[in-house]
Amino acid sequence: MAKLTPMFRQYLEIKERYPDAILFFRLGDFYEMFFDDAVLASRILDITLTSRDKGTKEKVPMCGVPAANATPYINRLVEAGYKVAICEQVEDPKQAKGLVRREVVRVITPGLNLCGDFCAAKEHLFLLCVFPGKKYGLSYLDLTTGDFRATELFEEELLNEIARLEPKEILLPEELKDSQLVLRIKEILPQVFFSFRNFLRAARQAEEFLKESFNVADLAGFGLSGAPFAIQASAALLDYVFETQKEKASHLTPPRFYYLSSFLVLDESTKRNLEILRNNLDGSIKGSLLAVLDKTETSMGGRLLKEWLVYPLRDIEAIEARLQAVAYFVEDHGLRKELRELVARVSDVERLVSRAAMGLANPRDLVALKESLKVLPKVKELIPQKVSPLLDEIYANLAIPQAFVSKIEKNLIDDPPVNFREGGFIREGVHQELDELRGLKTDGLSYLAQLEARERARTGIPNLKIGYNRIFGYYIEVSKSHLSKVPEEYIRKQTLVGAERFITPELKEFEAKVLSADERIKEIELELFLALRQEVADQAQVIKNIARALATLDVLLSLAEVSVENQYVRPKLVPEPVIEIKEGRHPVVEKALPSGTFVPNSVRLDLEENTVLIITGPNMAGKSTILRQTALITLLAHIGSFVPAEEACIGLCDRIFSRIGASDQLSRGRSTFMVEMAECANILHQATSRSLVILDEIGRGTSTFDGLAIAWAVAEFLQKKQVMTLFATHYHELTELAAEYPGIKNFNVAVKDFEDQIVFLYRLLPGPASESYGIQVAALAGLPKEVVERAKEILATLEKGSAPRIRHTKKQQKSLFAMDDILKHQLLALNPDKLTPLEALQKLYELRALAEKS
Ligand code: ADP
Repeated sequence: MAKLTPMFRQYLEIKERYPDAILFFRLGDFYEMFFDDAVLASRILDITLTSRDKGTKEKVPMCGVPAANATPYINRLVEAGYKVAICEQVEDPKQAKGLVRREVVRVITPGLNLCGDFCAAKEHLFLLCVFPGKKYGLSYLDLTTGDFRATELFEEELLNEIARLEPKEILLPEELKDSQLVLRIKEILPQVFFSFRNFLRAARQAEEFLKESFNVADLAGFGLSGAPFAIQASAALLDYVFETQKEKASHLTPPRFYYLSSFLVLDESTKRNLEILRNNLDGSIKGSLLAVLDKTETSMGGRLLKEWLVYPLRDIEAIEARLQAVAYFVEDHGLRKELRELVARVSDVERLVSRAAMGLANPRDLVALKESLKVLPKVKELIPQKVSPLLDEIYANLAIPQAFVSKIEKNLIDDPPVNFREGGFIREGVHQELDELRGLKTDGLSYLAQLEARERARTGIPNLKIGYNRIFGYYIEVSKSHLSKVPEEYIRKQTLVGAERFITPELKEFEAKVLSADERIKEIELELFLALRQEVADQAQVIKNIARALATLDVLLSLAEVSVENQYVRPKLVPEPVIEIKEGRHPVVEKALPSGTFVPNSVRLDLEENTVLIITGPNMAGKSTILRQTALITLLAHIGSFVPAEEACIGLCDRIFSRIGASDQLSRGRSTFMVEMAECANILHQATSRSLVILDEIGRGTSTFDGLAIAWAVAEFLQKKQVMTLFATHYHELTELAAEYPGIKNFNVAVKDFEDQIVFLYRLLPGPASESYGIQVAALAGLPKEVVERAKEILATLEKGSAPRIRHTKKQQKSLFAMDDILKHQLLALNPDKLTPLEALQKLYELRALAEKS
């Protein structure tokens, strides 16, 4: 180290403290990276790798990015799964004695990234932390919005919760690094970034740390008392945030404890199977339930809608409060339109406030915030009162910080420049000294014009001009031809090809005044801005409540808009276990089909005669669609949305389970059959008489008898356990169950045979399907005619109870080959030398006869 330059010594000291991050080391206008960081970053960012002397013999690999435009580079590295530590010069280089002091001011990680638009606006950016105890403590946080929550749960629940939240980063104690848990999480979220740390704090210390950090005397108000593991997880997470973000995040409130039991459980596979947030084909939102439902106008609303979708409620009153509001907006088209237009003018207030609180907001952000808050009075005026407790709550939360809005309005110009360090965004008339200094600058310009005119006249040099450049400051320029007329007091500064540049004491004095005015202007503007930003930070909680209220309003309006557009109805929620849907539709499939072509269907489930519905019918008949639409309608009712049906009465559910199709998880190292059975086992263990289960094709991954036996036993079990179930199956034998159990009913999805062609009617009818129609469907799919005909033949024989007669041409060929072998054998057995001519002729006849026979 001794031989290194001082700068490199400083670099290495800092790097040592952040071994797992790429260090962005500020040098003038650039962030530079060195050593391995440089090699890695140059590859990922596709920038040139150079080298720099470090004082010893070998040179050091180096690369850099402009500090003013570093965000896209940082985002790329973070997206590639790396952490970036930003090391700034923390004192003015002009005033520094010796080496400028540098410090890491922030570490950006995949779960903690406030840099611009890294994260899609309508997506949360969750950092999640797990603390292993008797139960698991779980805490999660979105630093961009300040949401912070915690709970305690068992391992299966934990995995479901992780699947629900889809965090970008998971924080775990070091000792879990090679654990089974990590492998299981990777199965669900292969892309997630893990950070392992030492969670040293003891339980009591963790609690004290949280109390101190949030300046509260007790955590009971946040539901955390008696939840030691949630506290531990929250403390570990907060510790990580403080360490990486440096500034205390004033927009954070203590984590709120939540009970899983407050929400309808959607496990990982159900969330996936029902394609709630994304489709299963390419993982995009297209074709998902969310894509149909999301007509929100703001990013905050978009995020909240997702939250509602994966956290459906289990409290009729709370659901009704949402439904009342949606119903009101469905009825009043004018109001809905007007409110939606107002909400559309609102920016992402949640994230703007967080940026302000974290010291990252710029003047543009504050102007956007102010513009958003300006719609509040009008919104408040329009919100109907006493219609729904939820609307009343929204109304109450729209506390308009008028003084504060006016202050931003009064201080900041309407369209501030991006680069606020250069000033130019504070209005005239706000600050006396600022106005004076600006006046000085403007006066200065006319003063220069006067000076130029005066000097031209005095020296008789007609093209003498006054100019400015960054290196020499102000100068008087005289072309070569007039040099002889230059007065004595001019001091030569610079020689150009056709001219000379001079300064004079008067000009220097002017320069000093203007430059210092410039500096001072920037200083004052910055000061005023920082004070404003601090005010926003101080009001973070109030503004966050406003943001939440606006987001909720946005979601309610969106649900109403979707209901009107797609003709949904208000579901009736009841406490009893019953699901009765009249003429229900699949919200996504109906959108994909030409308008009016989707065939609606009615379904009734209860714990009396319609507990398990066995649904048969050929492939492509629409069985899955009925199963899924029943689950989706049930889900929609639980989030407080209207539903695609003519009428729907939905009993409150504790869980929706689904086991659909042969989802191939071979990449996860489990065979299809194992996955199917594991999902099935989970359902049978957990389902209650308050659950809705949809099972699509159980037992396919094994032999017919095994599969049938399993499917049969599962259906029986669910009927006995009193679980409302829709069971689609190709095992026709299962339809016999209905005769044995009063709670089991047969249904089929109707098809018609028309001139030997199958026609799908998509109608759910009572009773078992009459035929299998598998061959017709195969024909529709384009199987060669010959194969289809042959299959029909075989089917007919099978149905008669006998084995099909084999008449493969292949087989015939095989016997031909066998004959060849015999002939060959016989020929080789002959010894022509020992045969008489007669014997030979006789043998020849024999062989010929043999060949003819074949
Ligand atoms: P199954 O599960 O019986 O194989 P699906 O439910 O997957 O059949 O339906 C197959 C296709 O039939 C769907 O993709 C859709 O295009 C169409 N379909 C299904 N149900 C309906 C319906 N009720 N109305 C119109 N088309 C439907």
